[in-house]
Order: sequence, then structure tokens, then C-alpha cells
Amino acid sequence: MGYIEPAPLKDEENPFEAMMSRFHIASQILGLDDEVYNVLKSPAKQVIVSLPITMDDGSIRVFDGYRVVHSNILGPSKGGIRFDPGVNLDEVKALAAWMTWKCAVVDIPYGGAKGGIQCNPREMSAGEIERLTRSYTSSMIEIFGADRDIPAPDMGTGPREMAWLMDEYSRTQGMTINSVVTGKPLVLGGSLGRTEATGRGVMVSALAAMEKLKINPYKSTCAVQGFGNVGSFAALLLAERGVKIVAISDLSGAYYNANGIDIEGAIAYRNNNKGSLEGYAEVEKIDGSAILELEVDVLVPAATEDVINSHNAEKIKAKLIVEGANGPTSAKADTIINDKGIIVAPDILANAGGVTVSYFEWVQNRLGYKWTGERVNRRSDRIMKDAFDNVYKTSQEYNISMRIAAYVVAIDKVAKTYKYRGGY
Ligand code: NAD
Repeated sequence: MGYIEPAPLKDEENPFEAMMSRFHIASQILGLDDEVYNVLKSPAKQVIVSLPITMDDGSIRVFDGYRVVHSNILGPSKGGIRFDPGVNLDEVKALAAWMTWKCAVVDIPYGGAKGGIQCNPREMSAGEIERLTRSYTSSMIEIFGADRDIPAPDMGTGPREMAWLMDEYSRTQGMTINSVVTGKPLVLGGSLGRTEATGRGVMVSALAAMEKLKINPYKSTCAVQGFGNVGSFAALLLAERGVKIVAISDLSGAYYNANGIDIEGAIAYRNNNKGSLEGYAEVEKIDGSAILELEVDVLVPAATEDVINSHNAEKIKAKLIVEGANGPTSAKADTIINDKGIIVAPDILANAGGVTVSYFEWVQNRLGYKWTGERVNRRSDRIMKDAFDNVYKTSQEYNISMRIAAYVVAIDKVAKTYKYRGGY
């Protein structure tokens, strides 16, 4: 291979470089040839749009919107839309590539994409967010499509935004096309089980890893960073299976109780407190970043990127990290974590429950039929467990970390498919 020396990581916080360095290692293990390497590392399509929106006070603000289709080799591209002030092209590119690998790891027939708008939805009214969502959809009409590119929620977006997206798209097509987007409200063709799907997959991955490590869930402790969709359901479902959740956190700080936190109570508090744990007085408040360094068996980072990095990796005491968030561990931290003997169920495996149930939603929409929640959970649990076992087996076979093993499984699948399909 002519690409043995990767470009040095200039910036630990650059998620695209972090993704590429893992991609590079896995490609070398697979002995991927240069041609396929170059195809897979380059996003298929990158779209940047300016979205002028009339704000409630009558002023016009222009927002930057992105959609990156990393790959459509395995099928239509799939990936969420993020509304966040930090959204930028590098981040969207990394997240799009992660979607390609994630879909391949869980063996669903999708490529990868991601989108986002640089905005702060917490400071915007519902009307402003609706106009922004519709304007973004209209700008992406040529990109989106049930057989082309299928968006979904991510940070800062949820069923409400997906409903606006579906409606705007359907208007332009002159008919209702609910399979163009997943994560919709139930009445618009959303799937039972979708809301909790990512957290549920984190729980399945955590239990599978604990079994390998011979950790008894009923005697284990866990800290969960991020108490949004992924973190709160992961915490709830793990607690239901006997794991003691001793710490949770969100942007307002971290909350600790050595005897275990009542997760249902914390969720109820958050729901009645504009989505924040601010002021949650049932437990001790600790410094936000301290949650990562607690003496626990399992750590679930379920907030955002690069929270585990070369500055704090050495201080992590958990035996197992189950990555609910995308890219919570920087590439530089990988080595430190591995050297410490900490097992990582990596993001592209552990948080793939969301895209799996998104796939089920799309299948149901296309069938015009609704599955029961029990069927959704049973099938997604099986997919997550099979994917975990496959990645674990690969890590043993090559004597590599679970993270690199997940990339090996994914890249091997996409590369083989590419070779069958061929190019120009
Ligand atoms: P969300 O917006 O529902 O929740 C994010 C939570 O993280 C909030 O509680 C927020 O306060 C907290 N947070 C943000 N930055 C933080 C920080 N620096 N420190 C501590 N807490 C912080 O988002 P979500 O849907 O739960 O997504 C969380 C992560 O999981 C993201 O990385 C996302 O890409 C990833 N993910 C989400 C899904 C999904 O289905 N929602 C699927 C796969 C991966």
C-alpha cells in the first residue's frame, strides 16, 4: 500500500482526522488496495447552503446548512440532522463517514450521510425553527429521497423537526412520502421503539461487554455523561437490568449518588425543567468533567465528541466504556485507553441501535404496515447482539481493539460491495 504514513493529527479536536486515523489503521490491517482506500475516504457529495430566515422580530438572519453524503455503496445514504452552534463541515464529514461504518457494522442496507445547521435552537422560537427546517429541506430537495438519502434526528432535533421535514418534502412531490425521513412522530409513520432505540442498543452492548468481562450487572456501577435522548434511556434501561447508575450529567453539571440515582425521577425532573437537570437536588452536584473520572465499572459517554482525550484519558478508572455519543474518544486517547486495558464498545457499534430502528421505521413505511414494539425491540436487540459478537470475534482474531475491529468489519463489507458494483 502506498499510503502507509498517515497525515499526522494536527488537531485532536478535529473529528474528521480522528475518524480517518482509525480508518487508516483498519485499512492497513485489511490490506486494502490504494484505489478502494481512496474511494472510501472521500465523501461522495458535500452540500453547503445559506438559509435566510425571517426571525420573529422581523429581522432576517442567514444560517449555514450542511449535508454530506459520505457513501451510497451499500444503499441509500442515512444520517441525522444536527442543530447546534458548533456545526461545521469537518464535523459533518466525520459524522457522515461514521454513519457509513455504523450501517455496515450492523449489516443494514444503507450508506452514510449527515446534515446540520449552525444555529442555537435553545434560543429560537418554535416558529423560527420550523421556518429553518422547512427552508433547509427545500434546499436539499435534490439530495433527500426515500431511495436516495434519508435524514433522521440528531442533537438539537427530534420528531417535531422530522414531521416538518416530511411535510415540506411531501408538498414538493405532491404526495405523502413518509419514508423520506425517520424519527417521525408515531402518527406520521414513526416506529414504536425508535425514541429509546439508541439508548437500548447502548444497554445491549454494555450487557454483552459485561458478560465478556465477567462483570455481574447486579453488582456493577455506571456513570452516564449526557442526559438527553441517548443518555437518559441508556441509564434507565441499564438501571432496569440491575446496574447501579451512580452519576449522570448534562450541560448544567454532574449529579452523583453512591447509592444509585433514581433515573425515572431524574427523567421526570428533566422533563418538567425545560430538558435540563439544573437544580436537581436529590443528589450531590459535582464538577461536570469529574463524571468521566469516577471509580465505576462502566462509563457511558452520551453527550458529544472528544470528551475523552489526551488530557484526561489517563485519569479514567472505568473498566468498560460504552460509547453512546458519536466520537466521544479522541484518536490520541485510544492508545492511552488501550494501554490501561480498558475495553471500549465503540460508537459505530454501541450507538447503532438508533439507525437500526430507523431502518425498521423505513421498512414499515414502505410496507404500509406497523410492527409491535415487542417485534421492534426483539429484532433490534438481535441485530445489536450479533453485531457485538461479530466485532468481538474480529478483535480476538486480529488481536486488535474493539474499535479497530468495528472499522475492520465495516470497511471490509463496504470495500467488497464496492468491488462487486465497480466504478467508472
Ligand atoms: P440530546 O440533544 O438529546 O442530548 C444531549 C445531552 O448531552 C444533553 O443532556 C446535553 O445537556 C448533554 N451535553 C451536551 N454537551 C455536553 C457536555 N459537554 N458535557 C455534558 N453534557 C453535555 O442528544 P442525543 O440525541 O442524546 O445525542 C447525544 C450523542 O449521541 C450525540 O453524540 C449524537 O450524535 C449521538 N447519537 C444520537 C443518536 C440518537 O438516536 N439520538 C443515535 C446515535 C448517536
